[in-house]
Amino acid sequence: MHILLMGPPGAGKGTQAAELVKAFGVPHISTGDMFRAAVKEGTELGKQAKACMDAGKLVPDEVTIGIVRERLAKDDCKKGFILDGFPRTVDQADALKGILEDLGLSLTRVLNINVPAADLIERAVGRRICKKCGATYHVKFNPSKTEGTCDECGSELFQRADDTEETMKSRLSVYEDSTRPLIDYYQKAGLYTEVDGRQAIDKVTADLIAVLKG
Ligand SMILES: [Zn+2]
Repeated sequence: MHILLMGPPGAGKGTQAAELVKAFGVPHISTGDMFRAAVKEGTELGKQAKACMDAGKLVPDEVTIGIVRERLAKDDCKKGFILDGFPRTVDQADALKGILEDLGLSLTRVLNINVPAADLIERAVGRRICKKCGATYHVKFNPSKTEGTCDECGSELFQRADDTEETMKSRLSVYEDSTRPLIDYYQKAGLYTEVDGRQAIDKVTADLIAVLKG
């Protein structure tokens, strides 16, 4: 059960990863968590990554790949993992293949939670969040009983500054451009499966689990 989970920003990847962790009892390994852990543990690669981040520089590929290698070599990954946020490029995908080969492993499947850009923009633009308790609403799909007011605590709802059409469009176009070659790569490898992320959350989960069990 060595899974790579992909999906555009706003597709609900984090939520689905948590459901897959529950269903299969394997760790969810996100790039962000991996970096934070390496920095916290003070590993040599963690120190190098931190130096780059502190200097506002991109972390070089060999450092990123090294951190992934260290993480995937840990015991809890033997029976599986859900990898998220890596690889981002075809070079990194090749590196991942090498790391897994060295560990005697291979990817079981690459799952992409596919949601068209127009839907993601609609989701983001209509999102409203409670200032006090953090409850989230959507003006169309999950409206609060009184417009602009939280059902839970009665506080005011707000819209996040980056939940705009322009911001989403540019984020999604960056994502599309960088992801397209990876999708081609994993399609050629016969590992790629797309799941319709426009469905209800539990339906998406059911589809992901069905692909993995099938
Ligand atoms: Zn609230």
